[in-house]
Amino acid sequence: MSSFYEEEKLNAAISDMAELSSLITGTENEEEFFKKLLDVALKSIPQAECATIWKIEGTLYRPVAGFPYERDILSKMVISYEDSYAYNHNIDECIVQTNNILDYYSGKNEKFYDLLSSIKTGRNRMCTIIAPLKVNAKIAGHIFIDNFSLDSFEDVAKRALKIFSNFASTFLTLKTLKDSETEANELNRVYLSFITHELKTPLTSIIGFSETILDESNMKLNAMRGYIRKIYASSRHLNSLIDDLSTFNKLNRETSLNIRRINFKQTLFEAVSIVEPNISPDVELEISYSADIPAFIETDPTKFTQVLVNIIGNAIKYTDEGSIFVHSSFDSSTKEFVISVRDTGIGISQEKLEDIFRPFYRVSKNRPGSGLGLAIVKKTIQVLKGRISVSSEEGKGSEFLIRLPLVIKTDEQ
Ligand code: ADP
Repeated sequence: MSSFYEEEKLNAAISDMAELSSLITGTENEEEFFKKLLDVALKSIPQAECATIWKIEGTLYRPVAGFPYERDILSKMVISYEDSYAYNHNIDECIVQTNNILDYYSGKNEKFYDLLSSIKTGRNRMCTIIAPLKVNAKIAGHIFIDNFSLDSFEDVAKRALKIFSNFASTFLTLKTLKDSETEANELNRVYLSFITHELKTPLTSIIGFSETILDESNMKLNAMRGYIRKIYASSRHLNSLIDDLSTFNKLNRETSLNIRRINFKQTLFEAVSIVEPNISPDVELEISYSADIPAFIETDPTKFTQVLVNIIGNAIKYTDEGSIFVHSSFDSSTKEFVISVRDTGIGISQEKLEDIFRPFYRVSKNRPGSGLGLAIVKKTIQVLKGRISVSSEEGKGSEFLIRLPLVIKTDEQ
């Protein structure tokens, strides 16, 4: 017979789990849901002291929620997935228990070891149980449950962890489905407006100017050439809009990679030379590298060049005077190239910054463009297992920060 206290705890755990399961609709904010899940897990597994949920994002391993860690600490705990315990011990089916997980990191990833041992302070035993999270039968991350003064968790704790990893996997699967449904609806809406507005505008000019020429039988050659120049400009604009549309569509259909080992500096230089002719005479372009940057990157050269051309091309397009700095460095803890493209151009206001990666979104419509450049960049960087972030101030300039892995490991490898 269980004691009154145990029964009370069990009842509380059951009602917490019931509440948790009612939240699994995929619409809840991911971080909030995982925090709730860990809260219930810690209460239901009496031996649990702290817990974290990690997600695999490209080549990175990132904690998305944790108890009792501050958000600030969690954000520093990002490591390369290849450096993680879960990757090296192949935790993809069952629950795994390990003692002193920290010993694994000492000497392997110093920065991460120091961070973890500063959390652990003063305790010398540690036991961890780890369960995989899956989306469509693929490993999407893991849950870690730790105790700093235990040698072993009881079997019932492992069974409880299995339930929580199933909860989290179901949540992630539903969220992935919901997100792609919302994205598809939004895309249909913007496609339609792109075709009816953006593509129609240059076409209307082409028709209008052609009619003018055809209607005026006595038109002077000079005047006619003026109209033809306008028709030519509108046609070129229409052509570049269709090019962007076709690149964007292709990206949504096929995400295959043609990975090669290429010279990093040379590829960057070639990308710059494609867009450099468009630079305003009042703008200076500076390219620099950190001393420790590796010579080669293993990536898809065409996609990599596309990203560079779009980001550096935008810096050139939206900067009328001042400078553009392209600086590349290497982050050895995540094994990523970091490319910063900073300009002193027109900048973007904070409230619009969130939207600029959306397909067809344009802030400054007085310059030519489709609003697809950054959507192409975002999608391409995702395929290249990298990340992109932006900071900007209206009227002062912008900085785009691209992170790309030294080596892309595909799922087949
Ligand atoms: P576009 O074809 O309009 O350039 P993008 O998708 O490349 O489309 O960019 C979306 C919007 O983001 C642009 O319309 C522009 O307003 C803004 N933007 C992008 N890069 C910069 C930059 N370096 N400086 C200022 N604004 C930028």
